[in-house]
Amino acid sequence: MNDVVRTLVALGLAIGGGSAMLAAQGQGNAAAQVHIEAARKAAGTEHLAVFERTCNALTPPPRSTAPAAPRPSGPPARDSWYAEPAKVFDNLYFLGQSEYSSWAVTTSQGIIIIDAIYDYSVEAEVVDGMKKLGLDPAQIKYVIVSHGHGDHSGGAKFLQDRFGARVILSAEDWDLLDKSRNNPNAQPAPRRDMVATDGMKLTLGDTTLTMYITPGHTLGTISTLIPVKDKGQTHLAAAWGGTAFNWVAGPAAYITPERPSKFWFDTYITSAERFRNIASAAGADIIIANHTNFDGTKTKLPALAKRTGSQKNPYVIGKEGVLQYMTVVDECAKAGLALQP
Ligand SMILES: [Zn+2]
Repeated sequence: MNDVVRTLVALGLAIGGGSAMLAAQGQGNAAAQVHIEAARKAAGTEHLAVFERTCNALTPPPRSTAPAAPRPSGPPARDSWYAEPAKVFDNLYFLGQSEYSSWAVTTSQGIIIIDAIYDYSVEAEVVDGMKKLGLDPAQIKYVIVSHGHGDHSGGAKFLQDRFGARVILSAEDWDLLDKSRNNPNAQPAPRRDMVATDGMKLTLGDTTLTMYITPGHTLGTISTLIPVKDKGQTHLAAAWGGTAFNWVAGPAAYITPERPSKFWFDTYITSAERFRNIASAAGADIIIANHTNFDGTKTKLPALAKRTGSQKNPYVIGKEGVLQYMTVVDECAKAGLALQP
């Protein structure tokens, strides 16, 4: 079945159809394919990367028979991850690596960081990146960690220790970090600090962010609404805090008798639909992600650098674009649910 689904997705991508093939498939595959097609349609070209990361990963990858490569010790080489920082909006800055994003929201009374990338990169990207862009890292007051995975939480302890920044996670994801504290191979965990609750507002100076608990990618993933300005014009950015269906490829950390795959897909769908409605009602017209692939950062930052006076900011994708992004992840999760026994 795995290969069938992969093939269907690939065919759908290649020829823009594939539904004729469905008659021969089982009930689950047929239902899944309807959702995959809905996701593909919503993705268009704008959200293709997030479509591929979700709809194309609904079943476990084939097991490699090759012996596993030895894990390299120590942090990866800088040139394998370093990315230049960039100002994206009047009050929003990209401080991430080539694959993982960290964002700085500047306010009248200090700076809020959203996601802290890894321990090995946080100083080079976040601290030095801010200095490069004329920001003072000593002004970091809060660090919102969208969820307790090392690629987003690993640098939080450094920011907590160095600048006294308050670190915010959901209760569930503080618990998740606690499980990693005694693991010498895990990213360092920040000391337990502030707990985000659903709908909680974080006000710093003239700026208020709103956090929502959107379980799915983890039990306590935080998704956030962030007011931004582009050359003085008001916009609203939505950050969907966790995207991939990690329980498919890495079931050991997710699947229990009480929480089978169905639970995770169901939970994800509920959250995706809810946050889509919240973002829509609030008028969000920008998506930012914590992986540079998902929100198009890899193409948007170069486009932004070449932007001329009259061109619009490439991150502003409109309310419909935000809806479509959330529809992609929702429909791909529904396809995953349809494939469950
Ligand atoms: Zn994650």
